[in-house]
Amino acid sequence: MIFDDDMETLPREELEVLQLRRLKGLVDRVYANVPFYRKSFDDAGVRPSDIQSLADVRYLPFTEKQDLRNHYPYGLFAVPKDNVVRIHASSGTTGKATVVGYTKRDVENWATLMARSLVAAGATKRDIIHVAYGYGLFTGGLGAHYGAERLGATTIPMSGGSTKRQVILLRDFGATVICCTPSYSLFLYETALESGIDIKELPLRIGVFGAEPWTEEMRRDIETKLGIKAIDIYGLSEIMGPGVGIECIEAQAGAHLQEDHFLLEVIDPVTKEPLPPGETGELVITTLCKEAQPLIRYRTRDITSLNLTPCRCGRTFARMHRVMGRSDDMLIIRGVNVFPSQIESILLETQGLTPHYQLLVKREGNLDTLEVQVEVDEKIFSDEIKNLQRLGGKIQKHIKEFLGVTATVKLVEPRSIQRSEGKAKRIVDMRNLS
Ligand SMILES: [Zn+2]
Repeated sequence: MIFDDDMETLPREELEVLQLRRLKGLVDRVYANVPFYRKSFDDAGVRPSDIQSLADVRYLPFTEKQDLRNHYPYGLFAVPKDNVVRIHASSGTTGKATVVGYTKRDVENWATLMARSLVAAGATKRDIIHVAYGYGLFTGGLGAHYGAERLGATTIPMSGGSTKRQVILLRDFGATVICCTPSYSLFLYETALESGIDIKELPLRIGVFGAEPWTEEMRRDIETKLGIKAIDIYGLSEIMGPGVGIECIEAQAGAHLQEDHFLLEVIDPVTKEPLPPGETGELVITTLCKEAQPLIRYRTRDITSLNLTPCRCGRTFARMHRVMGRSDDMLIIRGVNVFPSQIESILLETQGLTPHYQLLVKREGNLDTLEVQVEVDEKIFSDEIKNLQRLGGKIQKHIKEFLGVTATVKLVEPRSIQRSEGKAKRIVDMRNLS
């Protein structure tokens, strides 16, 4: 099923005409109303009238996350504050929070895009949708909530935390769809088992998972354990929140990005030059419809590629490859680029491990070292020491073979790595690089 049949199946030529019209309107608006953009356009020597084709977007300056911080809190608004009906903000663990404003129409558009997303994931108005993303300044909870209501589904505003209670209510309310982070779904599964509840036996049938990187192996693990379809949703608060893109349940092969609202580019993160379709680089997004806080060429830092081949679901929007890493999260271990997701793939392909792990990066002398700590399952843990050692050696060998780095592997007992109710903390960087 498709929520917005007219838009989501628009032939590419018509889509591009619409995108260009919206892009022209956007550059006029930001140049007139946002001093930051007026100055950065002037500095780059580009005028709104220079934008005559979609390819001309490459002449416009990029927007970085730091630009949002520099104009904290309201400096990038393109409308009078009276017209802003909602504020969200990301946690400011390293520096100032990034703030995003929404007009009434922005909130309505977001609800529509999120409703489209839920339908692509296989939900209908007859579903009961358990929203376990955090409610509050974080966009996850309210984003999913408004979309579920826009769809007409029964919405349960659970928010994060109280995991034992979540399990009880999942069972009692008979939720058929859950929205949360993928790692949290596994935490729910474990917690449920401890209370004698097997989530597989419940009516739950779909999980809409996002807000942290995950892998195909983790998807298989979740689908098997919970007995559901696990769907990848893409979003980021600077651009809107969840619902920027979603996989369709028909293909489960990359999130369709909502191209009537977002203009996409993939660039080389080093040279910043646009790359042709299909090549892997950093995703850059221009918001075509946002009123309160439109962004021009926002550097998402997400490493991906775009797939324009037709999808069996009938949607014409481009599909993005599952995020392969973050251009600024990439670990460089002795000159080798390593993405945490690559390590995760290796761990999840290995029998006897749980999906809970941490990567510790240390500096010994002038050399960076990588330690992989991963939990083994109960059965392996009670096994003989020499079998544990053999397993550790096998993982170390795979990491060396596939990634070209030497890592020490430490197998730890079940449930010894701290669980997170939001994004799992995968990297502990103990190098003092300042
Ligand atoms: Zn599709």
